[in-house]
Amino acid sequence: MSIESVNPLNGEVVRTYQPYPAELVTRKIRQSHQAFLSWKNTSFSDRAFCMTRMSDILRKRKHELAKLMAVEMGKPIKAGEGEIEKCALVCEYYAKNAEEFLARETVPSSAARSYITFNPLGVVLAIMPWNFPFWQTFRFLAPGLMAGNCCLLKHASNVPGCAIATEEIIKEAGFPDRVFQTLLVESSAVEKIIENPVIKAVTLTGSTEAGMKVAQKAASLIKKVVLELGGSDPYLVLKDADVPLAAATCAESRLINSGQSCIAAKRFIVVKEVAEEFIRLFKEEMQSKNMGNPLDEATALGPMAKKELRDQLHAQVTRSIDQGAECILGGQISPGSHAFYPPTILINVKKGMPAYEEEMFGPVASVITVSDEEEAIQVANDTSFGLGSAVFTTDIERGEEIAASRLNSGCSFVNDYVKSTPELPFGGVNQSGFGRELGTYGIKEFVNIKTVYIK
Ligand code: NDP
Repeated sequence: MSIESVNPLNGEVVRTYQPYPAELVTRKIRQSHQAFLSWKNTSFSDRAFCMTRMSDILRKRKHELAKLMAVEMGKPIKAGEGEIEKCALVCEYYAKNAEEFLARETVPSSAARSYITFNPLGVVLAIMPWNFPFWQTFRFLAPGLMAGNCCLLKHASNVPGCAIATEEIIKEAGFPDRVFQTLLVESSAVEKIIENPVIKAVTLTGSTEAGMKVAQKAASLIKKVVLELGGSDPYLVLKDADVPLAAATCAESRLINSGQSCIAAKRFIVVKEVAEEFIRLFKEEMQSKNMGNPLDEATALGPMAKKELRDQLHAQVTRSIDQGAECILGGQISPGSHAFYPPTILINVKKGMPAYEEEMFGPVASVITVSDEEEAIQVANDTSFGLGSAVFTTDIERGEEIAASRLNSGCSFVNDYVKSTPELPFGGVNQSGFGRELGTYGIKEFVNIKTVYIK
């Protein structure tokens, strides 16, 4: 089958690509290994030179790359430019800090001298999703290349143009041939790639189902995996919260990327004293966003990335309503609207409903009213996921205590929405995955943490 990019605005096929035949994939894997044998011996300053040049190229090409995302997966142009800026930042961050993060660590022991080195592993396979087609890739490849690894990218099948553009940017930045390569393949080809002895580790961002399959395969071959999977992030609004701030921040987070973000706010757990005010203000915020053509600079909300995902989301909404949830905004598909789905709010959401139990990967908010803070924390943790979480309160100390110690997630924010930034580790617990990206922890995921002992 061919790989197609389809414009979610109107369903038109933008371009069709032929998947790489198996022999070409094998050749590219071999070439990656050859590239690794030299790349691992380069200095940090040589790597940083290319990485810094790459950040300049990203900034120069940001409008063109944002347009590509708009056409392939519906991201509004302004948001796309912001995404490319963030990629430039992560390149600069690791260009500047990788050497220090991976410097030898001396550790006193019974030896005359003992220390730890952080050596590259080899070729790492990255399986990436379509929702942040550049950011998800760059936040892996910047630390990966700076650590001395080589990378192969299997991108989501609906963003082949973004995958090819990434390879071009790497070339333009002056990295040696083959240190990074895109493999245009379908997901059915991945098992075979993981089996290749040259592949030392795998990182996947995507659904829990894809994560399970890839992790099973990699585990059967004892290969390291990092998984960044879905989430159903709880946002707690306590009775002393600044409710207008909470409503505005929650709507902003819920609608990022048309709601298609693993760390978007998904469940809004509101203490009963402020529930009425929160729901009123939150609804005003949710309906204030401009939905339209992603190429139009005024658009805040584009179509969803694929029509099938829109249909799946609508089915979750419908099933939740059938089970007693009340829809107070959106929830309807306009005829001929291709992959668009309107901002939607479900209230009276209860345990057992899809809106409570499942990840809602689109602009749909589930509001759960609770009687007090303890119940809010219990409901927040009543999930199979554990990626992000947030708490809104004017008692910062209390908020910090809840964020730091009571919420089961990989990151927890107070009075703000969850975001990833180059300097802070990012990842989840439970079915949201394991391992960390970004910061000092991210660059250490794909290195051999080696003990050296001298008698
Ligand atoms: P997938 O998890 O299917 O896709 C993510 C990546 O994994 C793509 O590159 C995909 O390739 C690949 N993939 C899928 N199945 C396998 C497999 N069995 N073996 C190897 N690689 C695989 O996401 P979808 O696009 O289907 O979205 C479905 C749901 O996933 C969303 O509704 C959301 O819940 C979640 N999701 C989470 C993301 C996150 O940021 N954590 C990002 C995207 C989705 P291909 O496209 O060729 O199938």
